[in-house]
Amino acid sequence: MTFRSDFTDAVGNTPLIKLKRASEETGCTILGKAEFLNPGGSVKDRAAKYIILDAEERGELEPGGLIVEGTAGNTGIGLASVGNSRGYRTLIVIPETQSQEKKDALKLLGAELVENVAVPYKDPRNYVHTAKRIAEERKATEQHGVLYADQWDNLSNRTAHIRSTGPEIWDQLDGKIDGFSCAMGTGGTLAGMSLYLKGQNKDIKIAAADPMGAAMYNWIKTGELKAESEGSIAEGIGQGRITGNIDGAEFDDAYKIPDAEALPIVHRLLKEEGLCMGLSTGVNIAGAIRLAKDLGPGHTIVTVLCDWGHRYMGKVWNPTFLKDKGLPAPDWL
Ligand code: PMP
Repeated sequence: MTFRSDFTDAVGNTPLIKLKRASEETGCTILGKAEFLNPGGSVKDRAAKYIILDAEERGELEPGGLIVEGTAGNTGIGLASVGNSRGYRTLIVIPETQSQEKKDALKLLGAELVENVAVPYKDPRNYVHTAKRIAEERKATEQHGVLYADQWDNLSNRTAHIRSTGPEIWDQLDGKIDGFSCAMGTGGTLAGMSLYLKGQNKDIKIAAADPMGAAMYNWIKTGELKAESEGSIAEGIGQGRITGNIDGAEFDDAYKIPDAEALPIVHRLLKEEGLCMGLSTGVNIAGAIRLAKDLGPGHTIVTVLCDWGHRYMGKVWNPTFLKDKGLPAPDWL
């Protein structure tokens, strides 16, 4: 008999799926790590698992304790799911602009949901600061303690990828990997993969795929934290500062990916390859294609299929929403 013992144990060991069109277009083998197959539906289940297991190990969580986090949604879904299965409650602060589907999923899981005004990080009302403040306030009244998960600066986030995603990909490919590219939210995935893969073979190329409105492209290219005013509808990615998880990791290159480039990729991925993904996956695949073109034919590039498209039916998969924003929507949608 083979089975996973609980939710936490079911996180990880996801397949690598060959992306047909991206591979054909570049003459490379472009593979997507199928993170949407994690039990909470996204790559962030891994960070949630390690944040909670590491806190348990340090004695920072007791049964019935409250986990507080600011999140675009997926980390919250991961924390609430792991929390439900291990006896912790969750309080999630989410910017009001994030998809209704993720807010509904959080409520369904029983998380206490605080919808926050969507303002930049430098504003003290930003959701990250709000979550930290609420965590401090709740310490006075909670019977069983409070853990501020802090996916930004808590290194358990990138450790998840150093300990699980990285070794899984290495084993799946017998070490035959030339490059890895994905976008950065907290940066945990890309930094963790860089630290792991460069430790195996320092010649493996690590490239950031950056949406509009984020500062990682300029930071990697010039050392300056500068972003354009144009934004992106992609959720969960687009960073403007060097988080604790990004700090100290090595990045070889970066690509600026407009939504108009990433959207046709996710739309075609559904129509031609049967995979319904969110827009961060489109940004990731666009980054992998650019890296493949830079490296030339014959290389193996890995990227991440972050989460299900069903989390964005009102946005990525809604032609009216896209047309209103002047973004491309295929006729069949
Ligand atoms: N894609 C989606 C849909 C996400 O929710 C996130 C996490 N915020 C990411 C990508 C980026 O992952 P990371 O935080 O590891 O950079």
